[in-house]
Amino acid sequence: MQKKLKAELKRGRAHQNADDTRADADTGAPADAASAKAAEAPAPESRSAPDVADTGVEIVVVSPEPYMTYQPFLPEAGAGSISPRHVVVPLRRVLSECRIVVGEARSIDHAARRAHIRTIAADQTSTGSSDSRTASDSGSTNTTDTTGADGANLALDYDELVLAPGSVSRTLPVPGLADHGIGFKTVEEAIGLRNHVLEQLDIASSTRNPEIRDAALTFVFVGGGYAGVEALGELEDMARHACGYYHNLRPEEQKWILVEATDRILPEVGEEMGKYAVRELRGRRIDVRLETRLDSCEDRVAVLSDGSRHPCRTLVWTAGVKPSPVLAATDLPRNERGRLRCRATLQIEGTPNAWAAGDAAAVPDLTNDEPGQECAPNAQHAVRQARLLGDNLVASLRGKPLVDYEHAYAGSVASLGLHKGVARVYGRKLKGYPAWLMHRVYHLSRVPTVNRKMRVLSEWVLSGFFKREIVSLGSLEHPRAEFEIAAGGGPRTEER
Ligand SMILES: Cc1cc2nc3c(=O)[nH]c(=O)nc-3n(C[C@H](O)[C@H](O)[C@H](O)COP(=O)(O)OP(=O)(O)OC[C@H]3O[C@@H](n4cnc5c(N)ncnc54)[C@H](O)[C@@H]3O)c2cc1C
Repeated sequence: MQKKLKAELKRGRAHQNADDTRADADTGAPADAASAKAAEAPAPESRSAPDVADTGVEIVVVSPEPYMTYQPFLPEAGAGSISPRHVVVPLRRVLSECRIVVGEARSIDHAARRAHIRTIAADQTSTGSSDSRTASDSGSTNTTDTTGADGANLALDYDELVLAPGSVSRTLPVPGLADHGIGFKTVEEAIGLRNHVLEQLDIASSTRNPEIRDAALTFVFVGGGYAGVEALGELEDMARHACGYYHNLRPEEQKWILVEATDRILPEVGEEMGKYAVRELRGRRIDVRLETRLDSCEDRVAVLSDGSRHPCRTLVWTAGVKPSPVLAATDLPRNERGRLRCRATLQIEGTPNAWAAGDAAAVPDLTNDEPGQECAPNAQHAVRQARLLGDNLVASLRGKPLVDYEHAYAGSVASLGLHKGVARVYGRKLKGYPAWLMHRVYHLSRVPTVNRKMRVLSEWVLSGFFKREIVSLGSLEHPRAEFEIAAGGGPRTEER
C-alpha cells in the first residue's frame, strides 16, 4: 500500500478509480501499521514527478520483520518446493523511499495521533548497554519521535494512520496446546515445521523403541481451512517422498491425521470440491476426521472428541484466526469479532484520518445481497483493499471523492501437494493437476515484485529436473550449539 501511495504522489496524477488488474508489483507490500505525515504536503499536481521526500510527506512503515510474507506460499516453503527466502519481500528494497521501523505497535492513541512502538532494539538494551538514541539518530525527518526509558520504545506522531496488522492464530483453552502446538502463519514456523517433520523421520529410523517410533511418525493437524489442508497436503507429500531414502521406514507406517470440527474442509472451494478434497486426502491414507475436535494434547498425546488417543510429536494448530491483539490497545471502534469497523471507503468508522484493510478490517461486503455481511479475511481481499486504500488516502489528501471497495469473491484455489489441487473460480470447478497448475499460476501472478516471481518460477522449473531436498537443517535453530560444546559449556539438552 505504501508503494502505491508513493507511486501516486510521484506521478502527481488525480485519483481516478481502483483498478484490480494492475500488477502486484505495484503494491509492493501490504501495510502493517503505517503512518503518513502529510500535514505540509503540497498539491502533488503542481509538481512533476517529485520524490516522496520532496512532497513533504513522510511514510513510516512499522513492521516486526523487515519483510512482507506472502502467506499462501508458506505450505510450499514448508515442503521445500520454494526457498523460504523467496516467499518474503524485503521492505527496504521495495519501499526504498519509505522509512522502515522494525518493531511492533504496542498501542495507538488515535485521539492524540500517536502510536507507541517497541522496536527490535528493545531486546538488546536489557544487556546493560545504554542506548541514547535521539529522534534524529533514528532517521526521522518529519516525524516526531521520543525515546522511552530504555531507549527502544518510540512514540510516533502521525497525521494519517493506516492499520493493517492482520490476524493471529485463534487458540482455544485446550490442555497441553500451548506447550506442544505448532502454528503455521509465519515463514519461521514453515521452516521449523519442515525441519521438525524430517527430523521425526530420522528419530523413527534411529530407534528400536516402538512407542517413540510411532509417536515420531504420527502427525496431527487441527483445522481444515487453507492453512491446515495445504500444509498437511504438502508436508505429507514431502515426507512420503523422503521415506524412500530410509532403509527401515515405509511410507504406510506414517500416520497423518486431519481434525476438523465442522462437517467439511476448505469451505472456500465450495461443498462439492470440499468433498473431493476429503476423498483425495483419504485416498492417500490421510485420516480425515470431520465433526471432531481436539480435546487435549497433554504429554504429547492428542485426545480427540471421538475418544481416540494419538501419541504424537507433531501437533499443528491451524484452527482459524482472530484479529491482531494490538487492535484492543487502540481507541478505535471494533465489532463483536474484534475487527476494526470500517466503511466501504476503508476509513475507520466515525474516525477521521484512520484507515484499515485486510484481516484486521471489517469492511462491508457490498456484493453480498444479505445486509451486514463483511469481507472474509483472505489475501484476495487484503491485496485489493490495500490498493484502493492507497488511492483513497491520496484522494482524501487532495480533497477528491473516495471510491467504495467492492469485489465479488472470485473463488479459491488450493494445493493438496505436488500435482494435486482443488479449485472453484468464477463458478468453474477444477480438480487434480489442472487445479494445482491454476493454483501455481494464480499465486505466481499475485506474489509481489518481478524479482520474487522470477525466483519462484525458476525454482519450480528446476524442481522438474532435480529431486526434492530431504535434509533437515534443524540445527539452524541452534547455531551456537556446536561452539558451546567446544567451549566447554556442555551440550544443551533440549527436547525437540
Ligand atoms: C498458510 C496460509 C495459507 C493461506 N492461503 C491463502 C490463499 O490461498 N488464498 C487467500 O486468499 N488467502 C490465504 N491465506 C490468508 C491470507 O494470507 C491472509 O488473509 C492475508 O495475508 C491477510 O493480509 P493482511 O495484510 O491483513 O495481514 P498479514 O498478511 O498477516 O500481514 C500483517 C502484518 O502486520 C504485522 N503486524 C502484526 N501486528 C503488528 C503490530 N502490532 N505492529 C506492527 N506490525 C504488526 C505482521 O507481522 C504482518 O507482517 C493464507 C494464510 C495462511 C497462514
